[in-house]
Amino acid sequence: MTHTRSSGTNWSGNHRYRAAETLLPADFDELSAAVTGATSLRVQATRHTFNDIGDTDATLLSLEGMPVRIEIDGDRVRVEGLVTFAQLAPVLEAEGRALHNLGSLPHISVAGAAATGTHGSGTANGNLPSAVTALEIMDADGHTHHIDRDHAWFPAAALGLGAFGVVTAVELRTVPTYSVTAEAYTGVAWDDIVADPRRLFASARSVSVFTTWGDPAHDLVWIKSTDADAEPGYVTDLGGRPIGDDLHLGRIRTVGNTTERGTPGPWHTRLPHFRAEALPSDGDEIQSEYFVPLDAATEALAAVRAVASTIDPVLLVTELRTVAADDLWLSPAYQRDVLAIHFTWRNDNAGVAQVLPTVEAALAPFDVRPHWGKAFTMPGETIRATLPHAADFVAAARDADPRGVFRNAFLSRTLGL
Ligand SMILES: Cc1cc2nc3c(=O)[nH]c(=O)nc-3n(C[C@H](O)[C@H](O)[C@H](O)COP(=O)(O)OP(=O)(O)OC[C@H]3O[C@@H](n4cnc5c(N)ncnc54)[C@H](O)[C@@H]3O)c2cc1C
Repeated sequence: MTHTRSSGTNWSGNHRYRAAETLLPADFDELSAAVTGATSLRVQATRHTFNDIGDTDATLLSLEGMPVRIEIDGDRVRVEGLVTFAQLAPVLEAEGRALHNLGSLPHISVAGAAATGTHGSGTANGNLPSAVTALEIMDADGHTHHIDRDHAWFPAAALGLGAFGVVTAVELRTVPTYSVTAEAYTGVAWDDIVADPRRLFASARSVSVFTTWGDPAHDLVWIKSTDADAEPGYVTDLGGRPIGDDLHLGRIRTVGNTTERGTPGPWHTRLPHFRAEALPSDGDEIQSEYFVPLDAATEALAAVRAVASTIDPVLLVTELRTVAADDLWLSPAYQRDVLAIHFTWRNDNAGVAQVLPTVEAALAPFDVRPHWGKAFTMPGETIRATLPHAADFVAAARDADPRGVFRNAFLSRTLGL
């Protein structure tokens, strides 16, 4: 008999899952039985999203009881089951391989990150699903589909919001391992950050700017460098000084949970902000993130700064990053390099819901798209208007799931699925 556990809440506790229990199949037979018996089903992975994207009031299911496999073959790695980046990265590193990028924390699952378009930073780095080369997905009849780049569903399913079925395995492109040195700088004036954002964000492999939109003492530029950096001295030319031990991310004091700075180390020990063995970020928080074309960065940042006093009471910190263009239909970076404007908020659903429309209105002139896994209030038709292939995504998802078993309120609200 398939085990269950309480479905609980997401990581930050701002969303309680509606179904009381989560099914924990132990093998493919139990998974197939659970899927074929369901009228509505969503998968819970590591639950680091901040909205109802992964929820349903019917059947929730986790792969945490299923076997995990990591198989490296040339420049590809295939991961099966609930595999996190923290599990995957050291296995790749031991074989001299790496991923092109990582998000700010390694605690999240490969399948969950791909499903929501999770990204790190770097003007030349696509988001994490841009490295997906194939997926294995179990449909509502228990059949498994191998969806590679030649498959008609691929540009939809690789960043698929869980709408295509249960992703049982993901294949990713890897690159030769590389070394990264991180350093965090204070003392860079906001006017210099916004004067030429493209140059600052392209100066190193990964650049993050932290700000609270007004107090320069909170501004920080965290750079992850490699030998191939375009302009290694640019941040110091702008007056940046290494911050030393007193690292803070806006109003978040770090507690020995951040990755090492000042010395070179393997990619996976430096690219995330947070160490695999520690609690990331603040924990007691909600996150939102909006993507605008990088070419509009200066104007978009001025628009948010103009509403800074409205958002200040609920803001812990903003992080600015860049993501390279890709060809995935629902990607916020679909066919455009983007600036990602992230907000870590106090863990106050009502307070956050009150300020989000202000941020969204400020960014509306810039063809803004939201992060699928974070809190937003933009209406579905506004989001769909920014995504040229939204209707193609819906058609592909209906083709893959004609009975609508993997649809939920979030997909209905945002995509009309
Ligand atoms: C502290 C913190 C830092 C973060 N940093 C970043 C960051 O740097 N960059 C960024 O872009 N985001 C970031 N996020 C957001 C988050 O990492 C992503 O949104 C990601 O989706 C979370 O992955 P998960 O495994 O926890 O997914 P979950 O929340 O468990 O699931 C996400 C969605 O994917 C679906 N899903 C998951 N697995 C499967 C599967 N096997 N089959 C079918 N559907 C599936 C779920 O149903 C759900 O709809 C951060 C979040 C936190 C809490």
